Amino acid sequence: MKLGLIGLGIMGKPMARNLLKAGYDLTVYDINKGPVKEVVEAGAREAADVREIGANCDIIMTMLPDSPHVKSVVLGEGGLIETIREGSVFIDMSSINPVASQEISAELEKKGVKMLDAPVSGGEPKAIDGTLAFMVGGSQDVFDKCKPILEAMGSSVVRCGDIGAGNTTKLANQIIVALNIAAVSEAFMLAEKAGVDPQLVFEAIRGGLAGSTVMEAKAPMIMAGNFKPGFKIDLHIKDLNNALSAGHSVGSPLPLTAQVMEMLQVLRIDGCGQDDHSAIAKYYEKLANTKIGRE
Ligand code: NAD
Repeated sequence: MKLGLIGLGIMGKPMARNLLKAGYDLTVYDINKGPVKEVVEAGAREAADVREIGANCDIIMTMLPDSPHVKSVVLGEGGLIETIREGSVFIDMSSINPVASQEISAELEKKGVKMLDAPVSGGEPKAIDGTLAFMVGGSQDVFDKCKPILEAMGSSVVRCGDIGAGNTTKLANQIIVALNIAAVSEAFMLAEKAGVDPQLVFEAIRGGLAGSTVMEAKAPMIMAGNFKPGFKIDLHIKDLNNALSAGHSVGSPLPLTAQVMEMLQVLRIDGCGQDDHSAIAKYYEKLANTKIGRE
């Protein structure tokens, strides 16, 4: 079985390494040649273009930024749709709008190609460790066939429903993460301004009800003023945009998401779009003219 992977960024590159470690025959493509070279040195083949992957691979995966990138790679000129073979499977692991997943799937269906939308949670460290959480949409039989491949990159692989359900689940995940970072930032700023050391607040509450995976990962970064991505503000804006759009179309108001979205907009205007999303703390630091946990 030949696998193809398009998109070797922060996430795609370590995911490719884990597929190689698991012994899969992997062909890769990215417009950025730096990571392609690294993954080829680790044992992958390099494709000259997307069409070559379509023509030669049985299961084709993408790990791209957003809906327009996935649509262009699959349906655009020179895209997979031109060469992909009947009976092959397309797995999009990017976080995109669930409506786009359904549109892409409908076009591939006309060529006899089945699709899964399989976005992930966990970020770069878990992509490196191979412990990502996959949330998957698509039919049960295609899911069962592809599950071992996803398990080479993740420790949790859950089918959430039909096509689009993976990305709907991912939007739910991204709402919870963004609001949680904002809550941690707001609360730690209160402690800082009240003269209580945020590090001690963290130690006191991390094991209680307020503790969370988000707090464990992001509170130390916030207190160290380390906003190296990780997961970029610009990507989280993309996800909340997709969440608000999906919420509007299904009739689910998202008032807290809208509020955190505006915080992210302020940060982007302030030149922080490429910072880790833990930089939501910077919004509060600007409001209160105080740093959290330092000076
Ligand atoms: P990234 O920007 O680091 O990587 C995207 C890669 O796609 C880049 O290498 C880019 O060159 C490549 N690319 C773009 N257009 C292309 C095209 N037309 N053809 C071939 N390659 C192309 O992004 P990332 O952080 O790896 O994220 C990828 C996806 O995973 C996003 O949807 C993101 O929301 C999601 N995600 C990211 C994280 C994280 O922590 N970084 C965590 C979970 C999910």
